[in-house]
Amino acid sequence: MSAKPLIIAIDGPAGAGKSTTARRVAEVLGYIYIDTGAMYRAVSLSALRSSCALTNEALGLLAEASDIRLEPSDGAQKVLLNGEDVSLAIRQADVTAIVSQVSAFSSVRKALVKRQRQIGEGGGVVMDGRDIGSVVFPHAEVKVFLVADTDERVRRRLLEAQTRGEQITEDDVRQQIISRDEYDSNRAESPLIKASGAVEIDTTTCTIDEQVQTILDLVRSYQTTHSIVSAHLGF
Ligand code: C5P
Repeated sequence: MSAKPLIIAIDGPAGAGKSTTARRVAEVLGYIYIDTGAMYRAVSLSALRSSCALTNEALGLLAEASDIRLEPSDGAQKVLLNGEDVSLAIRQADVTAIVSQVSAFSSVRKALVKRQRQIGEGGGVVMDGRDIGSVVFPHAEVKVFLVADTDERVRRRLLEAQTRGEQITEDDVRQQIISRDEYDSNRAESPLIKASGAVEIDTTTCTIDEQVQTILDLVRSYQTTHSIVSAHLGF
């Protein structure tokens, strides 16, 4: 009998290693991977392009009307906004500068959380973000909270930006990360917190392989415990 497809929630601050780790865990398990930060970034890009007023009502309508799709592509994830590939555009500095502000509006969160739940409700999903274990799927079978030292998170984000060919200084990256984490952690709607029941993993000195293995071990341990309990109860 094949194991029940689970919901794996991975939360944490910027640069803690969520996306790469979550994508690899999904690959190993044959699950789909959903980068919810990319969805908030896509709405932010749409707001910039349409000069949308940064109000709850206007952004909520925009989020509802935006067709955002996440598709696997060559070991990465392609982000489509109304059919256009915006995978690179959503990582640019102008989007990064407003995404936390846009994400703090309740109307935006309502629209995107609804879609995230539709995608993940049947299980077989690894979803990363800030509020997956606390709000989107509080009953996720496996919840992880990834953290890492600020210096290491800055180093990783700088490397990613340089790989994309962006001209950005280490100081700018540090500033962005610190202010985004502060904003995300202190907002009224779904702040970045370690969800109840989440296992904290400090990735500062971990390799990606180690992070992936730690999460796979949590999954196996959940499956083993629950198959024993099910067998005991006769179902
Ligand atoms: O994950 P990433 O750094 O791309 O996320 C960009 C921003 O999107 C975060 O700084 C946060 O403001 C917002 N976000 C959120 N809730 C999520 C995922 C991302 O508010 N579940």
